[in-house]
Amino acid sequence: MPARFASPLLACPVPVSPARPAPQTLVEQTLADQTLVEQSLADQTLVEQSLAEHSPPATLPEIARRLEEHYLPTLPTPRRAAEPLNGLIQTVLSQQNTGVITARQFAALRAAYPVWEAALLGGPDGIEAVLRGAGGGLARTKAGYIWQILERLDTERGALSLRDLQDLDDAQARALLESLPGVGRKTASCVLLFDLARPAMPVDTHIWRVARRLELVPGVWSAVKVEKWFDAALPRTWAQRYAFHVATFRHGRDTCKAQRPRCGECVLSDLCPSAGVVLNGQKSAATDV
Ligand code: SF4
Repeated sequence: MPARFASPLLACPVPVSPARPAPQTLVEQTLADQTLVEQSLADQTLVEQSLAEHSPPATLPEIARRLEEHYLPTLPTPRRAAEPLNGLIQTVLSQQNTGVITARQFAALRAAYPVWEAALLGGPDGIEAVLRGAGGGLARTKAGYIWQILERLDTERGALSLRDLQDLDDAQARALLESLPGVGRKTASCVLLFDLARPAMPVDTHIWRVARRLELVPGVWSAVKVEKWFDAALPRTWAQRYAFHVATFRHGRDTCKAQRPRCGECVLSDLCPSAGVVLNGQKSAATDV
């Protein structure tokens, strides 16, 4: 070793501390966690059961084709986020928020906490104050979940990152995401679809409403059950699910609105069992959610 690197400390006996196990990666932790493995298998069974319970109508491929042609004629290039944790936090913020407010809250968080370790130190109260300053609803609840997610990652992994999700398969990545505080199926699906370019199919209130009005699924099914059904019924490719998700979301938001659906302008009116009811102006379409 060159003399300039020599240190007198090297001559001192160094106390040997007990060997600590090397920290596991997120992948190793997930694969070792039998609960997560069982959860992903059980989830897959429920997905398959939902399809056995209700077959996809013959019109589904044509509905998908028309929606995509009308609302998303050009598919973007799939993108893998450098840090999926950012996408998860943005998804938490997006609940009951517009895209504009979500972006504003996320920018405010990054300005206040340039690294997530600072947000962890800021605590739920500090995060809540930042969110309130940026406007938008549910600041206390979302701040609590964001802090708990950071705290869980710090405690169980020692790093505030979800980059290693890239190394897990789809079911394992979902199981891990859904094991985090406040992360349900839809939130996990959004991260899988938008940040990891995986073939997930998030179902929000717009897609849920459109699916029921078109009678793709029974009207009594919950949004979670509808999402599981789509997961089994749609081709398992990122491109087809991304296109169907985005196009159906835009259709529900812009045309098949909750209170006043625009059936007269709808590209699906000849395929929709609810269209006649709405076109007559007697009442709104099948279900208003
Ligand atoms: S016809 Fe009306 S109710 Fe049916 S999908 Fe179109 S807008 Fe919605």
